[in-house]
Amino acid sequence: MDKIHPRAIEQRDGSWAIKLKSTSGLVTPEYLEEVARVAKKYNVRQLKILTGQRFFLIGIKAEDVNKILEEISKDMGFNVEPSLHYVQACVGNTTCKYGTLDSLSLGKKIEELVYFEKVPAKLKIGVSGCTLNCAEAFVRDIGVFSGGKGWVLVIGGNSGRKPRIGDIVADELDDDQVLDIIKKFLKLYKEKGDYRVEGRYGMSERVARFVERLGIDAIKNEILA
Ligand code: SF4
Repeated sequence: MDKIHPRAIEQRDGSWAIKLKSTSGLVTPEYLEEVARVAKKYNVRQLKILTGQRFFLIGIKAEDVNKILEEISKDMGFNVEPSLHYVQACVGNTTCKYGTLDSLSLGKKIEELVYFEKVPAKLKIGVSGCTLNCAEAFVRDIGVFSGGKGWVLVIGGNSGRKPRIGDIVADELDDDQVLDIIKKFLKLYKEKGDYRVEGRYGMSERVARFVERLGIDAIKNEILA
């Protein structure tokens, strides 16, 4: 049997699971039909929508993992770790009455910028259309929310094993300024991040730990110049 794709995840019972990406949770009827088709064809035991707005196909036979990945549309597939896991975006001002900026549009632009970047550790990004922050910018590696007068950019949050509230690095930004600062930050993270994989969970240096090690002021000096 071919080597199983590295992003497939082995489950407790020896079966496998894969995550199908969506852009900020936006799906089409065709996307849903494709998920249903594959799930039925390969007897996928369970379908779960994850917090990162991805579909989780659980209980796949080892011999079917690569077949599924070859069959599904490239838009639903995933990149190779360590890399972007997801950009989670709320509906923003396209729909929500509280939204003041278009978080879906910015989320898509950020995904396009970041998707194929190879970074030291997994990246989770949240974009919210107002200060209610439904996409949880303060606990994402990179977070963005509308502060009313433009985007507020937050770096270094984490909601996992060692939680951290991210630091606001800039505010009153437009879309292009957000993308520019994220680009500079990723360059720095790629250059100075620690790629060593350590610990029980086999983790390399997440953004929160990177910010703690370098210090947010040093990071701001580099990325806001
Ligand atoms: S963050 Fe604001 S704009 Fe986005 S869904 Fe929540 S309330 Fe609406």
